[in-house]
Amino acid sequence: MEEKSKVTGDIKALSKPDLDLVALALDLMNTTNNEIILYTNDYSMENLCSELAIKFKTLFKNGIKNKIYFEVYCPYCKTTYKSEDLNKSCERCGLKLKRRFLKKEKL
Ligand SMILES: [Zn+2]
Repeated sequence: MEEKSKVTGDIKALSKPDLDLVALALDLMNTTNNEIILYTNDYSMENLCSELAIKFKTLFKNGIKNKIYFEVYCPYCKTTYKSEDLNKSCERCGLKLKRRFLKKEKL
């Protein structure tokens, strides 16, 4: 993914959280059947999203702001954890925790 954004020249304009969000969107597109839409008001983000075929909507154009919530969980025993536990392993079975889309809320 980093390689692709270097091509578009957007990587310098994007922060680590932005890139994480794009990576997560790609991840979700591969792991769920839900439609994944990334909300952004950043031109570089939009550019990268089109490059990577991620659907996106611009925040300031329609005036809707959304906050997206994620849930950290164990893919094996389905125990849920706090978001700060993301890089840890499950206390029950030792598997690396994953993150999934929980809900989207209008602000
Ligand atoms: Zn577990």
